[in-house]
Amino acid sequence: MTTLVKTQSCPYCGTDVDDSHAEWEEGTHTIECDRCHQEYSVTTEYEFLGWDIEKVCHGCGEIESECYCDEPQLTKESDPQ
Ligand SMILES: [Zn+2]
Ligand SMILES: [Zn+2]
Repeated sequence: MTTLVKTQSCPYCGTDVDDSHAEWEEGTHTIECDRCHQEYSVTTEYEFLGWDIEKVCHGCGEIESECYCDEPQLTKESDPQ
């Protein structure tokens, strides 16, 4: 098992890559160091935490926790038919 680090730094010269330029996409990337111009490989790994599953509202297309259209349901209930 390899040790994962939180800073993407060059294994040759030790230059830290700024977070805004780091490789965040999962997988292996080949990087050329800005400073020493040597190539090195970076593998981004994410721990799988699980899925968040929610129903999507038919009325507005938002997930249920983001949906604010209970109004049609209220009018349906108050509608004496
Ligand atoms: Zn370097
Ligand atoms: Zn809705």
